[in-house]
Amino acid sequence: MRTVQHWIDGAFVSTGHDLVPVLNPATDEAVAMVEMANADAVRRAIDSAEAAAAHWARTPLSKRAQVLFRFRELLIEARSELAELITLEHGKTLDDAAGEVMRALDSVDLATGGPALTQGATSLQTGPDIDTKSVLHPVGICVGITPFNFPVMMGLMMVSVSLAAGNTFVWKPSEQDPGASVRIAELFKQAGLPDGVLNVVHGRQEAAEQLIDDPRTQAVSFVGSSAAAKAVYARAAAAGTRAQAFGGAKNHLVVMPDADLDVVADQLTSSAFGAAGQRCMAISVAVVVGESAEPLLQRLAPRAEAVQLNAGHVPGTEVGPVVSRRAQERIQRTIKEAIAAGARAVVDRSTEQVPGFENGYFVGPTILTDVPVTSPAYKQELFGPVLVVLRVDTLDEAIALIRNHRYGNGGSIFTNNAAAVSQFEREATVGMLGVNVAIPVPVAGYAVQGWKDSVFGDTGLNNASWSFYTRPKYVTSRWESLSGTDFGFRPN
Ligand code: NAD
Repeated sequence: MRTVQHWIDGAFVSTGHDLVPVLNPATDEAVAMVEMANADAVRRAIDSAEAAAAHWARTPLSKRAQVLFRFRELLIEARSELAELITLEHGKTLDDAAGEVMRALDSVDLATGGPALTQGATSLQTGPDIDTKSVLHPVGICVGITPFNFPVMMGLMMVSVSLAAGNTFVWKPSEQDPGASVRIAELFKQAGLPDGVLNVVHGRQEAAEQLIDDPRTQAVSFVGSSAAAKAVYARAAAAGTRAQAFGGAKNHLVVMPDADLDVVADQLTSSAFGAAGQRCMAISVAVVVGESAEPLLQRLAPRAEAVQLNAGHVPGTEVGPVVSRRAQERIQRTIKEAIAAGARAVVDRSTEQVPGFENGYFVGPTILTDVPVTSPAYKQELFGPVLVVLRVDTLDEAIALIRNHRYGNGGSIFTNNAAAVSQFEREATVGMLGVNVAIPVPVAGYAVQGWKDSVFGDTGLNNASWSFYTRPKYVTSRWESLSGTDFGFRPN
């Protein structure tokens, strides 16, 4: 069986320590064993990143960009291979997995612009014959801790910009689907990345904490659940280390009375159930303003019933299993409790079995309405293919639901009413908004960044992360000699 080892100093490293099975969510069978890092392996990864840091920081910007350009081509070539690995370990469909790789490419493309995007600024005559300039230095060793749901994209969102800015990196991917991470490290080596610039260690919370606590770590990027994000942010702060930590979500989609309900039903079906609801930007709550709730449910129900639930590698599959037995049981339990508490299941495929894959962690598309806003099915992130449909009378009430929710990752509105859009844009307390778009993930030229408990820290990923992965220096220069003393602190 395949063993997923660590990648340290440009080579696979085995510690032979604490091997854990990587399970295929469609079959519950082990498809690999992953080595959990011991303290020595984590330390060696940071040693390697430290040893490579000075040389990589001095490597010209254009040479760093060339590595990224070569990596970009290799990533495209490896697209199918990576998609197969993702499907095997994560469970999403092959088509969705290939889409993830192409979304990751967007971050690599952005990072190839490093020579232009790491410019400082210069101002002449900021005082008498005085110039001031700012320059951006790499911060040094960066750490990235990533979730299971985008095993390629999340890592590359961090690694690409960080490397382009001249840093070295230690990546701890999710222990649930670690296979793609080391393949990416191999591709980077093939692209000419010097050994030690990118290292990968596998592990759980303890490995992550050792990486955060190491005094040589200069920046910590984290994506995962909010509880872990908050803990990581606090831990990094305690160590005096900058951190950006992205957490969970409960994204609302507001349906205005003028919205085309067939379009909304199609978009909601794709957004809520695609990737088995395991996207941080999936819509999990539809808020219907006015009288359209029943007609919308009438359109949603047949669509949810028709979704092809099957193993991700089977042609024609639209929704695969969720990632683990634990996730499956948690989602099924929450649905059951919501129904017991008075919610109405318009469609409930939550316990559906897939012939031929009876041991898989399947949860079929489920639509709940009349869900109390105090219930866990509304308040918590389920991270499964479950859509809650709520009814309100006004846009104000819809926005109030969003404002009162603890999460603020994304949110959408479907309407052609410009005044409603304008109010939604101004008042919705989420970081990533969609107007007639149901998965409003901004392109890499902008940022991935939520609000409220969906983020801890103040810099987004992608184009917003150049400042996170660099440290500014400000230089004040005088070009005329000035003699004589002056003990005052003069304005320029
Ligand atoms: P998770 O929090 O269980 O794990 C994420 C990563 O953190 C893993 O590598 C894990 O090993 C590590 N980890 C877990 N607990 C830790 C701790 N206390 N300290 C340090 N490291 C820890 O999350 P998951 O189940 O893998 O991923 C799903 C979550 O990620 C969902 O909540 C989803 O919304 C969120 N997510 C958010 C975004 C975003 O942009 N906000 C994007 C993708 C996923």
